[in-house]
Amino acid sequence: MPFIDLKTQYAELKQSIDARIQAVLDHGQYILGPEVAEMEQKLATYVGVRHCISVSSGTEALLIALMALGVGPGDEVITTPFTFAATVEVIVLVGAIPVFVDIEPDTYNIDPALVEEAITSKTKAIIPVSLYGQTADMMSLQTIAARHGLPIVEDAAQSLGATHHGRRSSGLSAFGCVSFFPSKPLGCYGDGGALLTDDDNLAKIAREIRVHGQERRYVHSRIGVGGRMDTIQCAIVLAKLERFEWEIERRIALGQTYLARLRGSNAVGLPVVRPENTSVWAQFTVRVADRSAVTESLKNAGVPTAVHYPVPMHKQPAYAGLCRVHGSLKNTEEASETVMSLPFHPYLSDEIVEKVVDALVAAVDR
Ligand SMILES: *Cc1c(COP(=O)(O)O)cnc(C)c1O
Repeated sequence: MPFIDLKTQYAELKQSIDARIQAVLDHGQYILGPEVAEMEQKLATYVGVRHCISVSSGTEALLIALMALGVGPGDEVITTPFTFAATVEVIVLVGAIPVFVDIEPDTYNIDPALVEEAITSKTKAIIPVSLYGQTADMMSLQTIAARHGLPIVEDAAQSLGATHHGRRSSGLSAFGCVSFFPSKPLGCYGDGGALLTDDDNLAKIAREIRVHGQERRYVHSRIGVGGRMDTIQCAIVLAKLERFEWEIERRIALGQTYLARLRGSNAVGLPVVRPENTSVWAQFTVRVADRSAVTESLKNAGVPTAVHYPVPMHKQPAYAGLCRVHGSLKNTEEASETVMSLPFHPYLSDEIVEKVVDALVAAVDR
């Protein structure tokens, strides 16, 4: 059984995907071809914001967001250490200091109360990460950010399609940054990403930064990057968007099945989805006490697992000396030692879910 099944998805969508790729080969506009604008417009509509700027990866989206907001040397950006490195990397790349606060132990997302405590006169932005497919408490974060006049950049790499109080993830703040990395909820066949925003001025700036800070051809009014997303990758996202709503529904249903079937086992710590949220389950992540033994017995039962993430960012060699830690990171440290992600994708059958659950329950009871 695969951890994430891209082959079945391709088999289901082959006609549209092949036709979309062929159309690009036929017109030959590989850079900023018509599929780029079409994909941006469809995604903006889906999320419910005015602007979508496609870029070369989720990481690039985060970098461009910080550049567009003018975050630079000496500034502080408050975020969570329980994330993929990209969130933190971009803060350091613009010369700013990552300030880490702890997560909530049940959702694994940043704790808004700690964010407010960590704000100083140097704070320039807040980056909550919508980990495993569920947004952080964006409503509380927005209230806090507004009180201090700070922008929020949502790292929505794992949460496209999720909702918070009925509104879509990535459309809840100054910028929402999504990733089309193949294994994300909406993936292309290479690297890709996008920024979403309702702010006309920020959208214009991000668009300029994406292409070397050009206001017009060969007029570079700001420092930029080479950050465009390929036309072919946008074409693939367009084909996959046709099935995305169905996939999200399937993800939500499978998440509920996993939760219902695992509820009986006291030795498996289950993820919590807040009532105001839906999760797209980019990862279905549980907690177990003896992770290496459980991983081993699942492996022997033919069940692949993964750890997101085993070493938090404040303990990574590259960032340990460059970050500021606000208060205790106990929840983060406990999570990094106990979390384990199970096979999850919209083409998972109920039989496979049963098999995973049986293997997991047997492994923790051992
Ligand atoms: C995948 C991911 C990114 C980076 O996206 P890429 O498209 O791989 O650059 C950033 N943040 C989080 C939380 C991610 O999961």
